Amino acid sequence: MDKTILIVDDIFVNRRVLAKNLQNAGYYVLEAENGKEAIEKLTQNDVACVLMDIEMPVMNGIEAARYIRYKLPSSKARVKILAITAYNDSTINEYLEFSLFDGIVTKPFSFQQIEKILKDA
Ligand SMILES: [Mg+2]
Repeated sequence: MDKTILIVDDIFVNRRVLAKNLQNAGYYVLEAENGKEAIEKLTQNDVACVLMDIEMPVMNGIEAARYIRYKLPSSKARVKILAITAYNDSTINEYLEFSLFDGIVTKPFSFQQIEKILKDA
């Protein structure tokens, strides 16, 4: 089965661009527009990696990652989560230390960056 990637971003265009690139590279893609939806999709599907935007309404990326790591059963809680953030502040690096995220990708990023991380995953 193809690797399933869950794209979480509140901006439709951001999701579409990433989804198109990932599909062209042979990945199966799921989308969610906030953290709450991401948790639902993750619970219902076998996901290899979550690409998580940080700033989102309803439930942001940090709240969602925290929920996934601490509230979901261990098979789901250990999913690889990459933070996608417009800013590279020390707060994010702190979350990285606490294993909330497996990596950080700063916007603007190239698809090649994402693909390299997914291949190493
Ligand atoms: Mg956003």
